[in-house]
Amino acid sequence: MQDMEKGSPYLMDDFSKIKKVDAHLHYYTFNDAFIHFAQKNNMHLVSINVDFMEDEWMKLSEQKNIAGYHKTNNPDSYSFIGAVPLSNNITVPVIENACQQVAAEQDNGAIGVKIWKNVGMKITHNNKLVMIDDPVFSPLLRQLEHIKLPVLGHFGEPRNCWLPIDEMTVESDKKYYSSHPEFHMNQQPHMPSHNDQVAACNNMLAKHRHLNFVGAHLGSSEYSIDEIARRLDQFPHMNMDLAERVCHLQHQAINDHQKVYDFMIRYQDRLIYGSDMVFTDNKSEEEQLEELERRWHSQWQFFTQTNIQNTWEVKGSFKGLGLPREVVDKIYFSNAIKAYPSLSFLAQ
Ligand SMILES: [Zn+2]
Repeated sequence: MQDMEKGSPYLMDDFSKIKKVDAHLHYYTFNDAFIHFAQKNNMHLVSINVDFMEDEWMKLSEQKNIAGYHKTNNPDSYSFIGAVPLSNNITVPVIENACQQVAAEQDNGAIGVKIWKNVGMKITHNNKLVMIDDPVFSPLLRQLEHIKLPVLGHFGEPRNCWLPIDEMTVESDKKYYSSHPEFHMNQQPHMPSHNDQVAACNNMLAKHRHLNFVGAHLGSSEYSIDEIARRLDQFPHMNMDLAERVCHLQHQAINDHQKVYDFMIRYQDRLIYGSDMVFTDNKSEEEQLEELERRWHSQWQFFTQTNIQNTWEVKGSFKGLGLPREVVDKIYFSNAIKAYPSLSFLAQ
């Protein structure tokens, strides 16, 4: 059993054997079937609460009830990231309330808090769209630095969001923006550009050097590993999660396999695995378990194996990266613990 050579890649079957963290998913149901499936696969789940502020999505209060329920019943298998509660119009009292709420979330066991893309895409301040580098957010960000609560920031969207559908690089983005034209920025030229979104995040990071920051979805720089590398070099206090953006690495591996491999080796301490699954009562349990298993296995295959692979998200075949197991261990486990220190009990 223990004769696995150090450095040799993992096998497909090793997936269920090693300790892992899925550090970005949305557990929006009391149904604990997905926790049981995760336990069988040695996966600790990190669910993320989001202050959607839109009626068609689950209310934050309901998300909090669900998070408290699972955290109480399965603390070894489940953790949660709380939401920073905001409002469609930011005022000083809204920020003061958010400062209190993030401290309360920390007291309730949140391992971090999430700020969502509605900052920069929807929320206003003084009747103008407001970006995360606006000084109105400074007291909140200073508070988060002070209480050392990690921040998962989702700002902007994949660059594809600003392109016409037929120029998008991956099939999953074509599907998403075709069915959500309201989020398709290519149709909304008055809105900030992709560069504006990334610049706002960078400006914020430059001002808050003590923030323990995780850029969700490869920091919305998923389209270019060079750009991701530049930002990780510029901001040593930023890590990034891979949630729903593994397909962009796969897409880049079609033509630049070695370059993607070298990137993963170079930034092996900064990248965190996440599936971005959403568990809900609106779909059947069976369908969701199948999709969870498909995602976990196809992404594990990409990172650990070296065969030629396909997924529906990507047009074209790509070769798996076959990363050394020490690197896989970091991406699937120890980097999440470094970014979210409250998870350190998992390493014991
Ligand atoms: Zn997500």
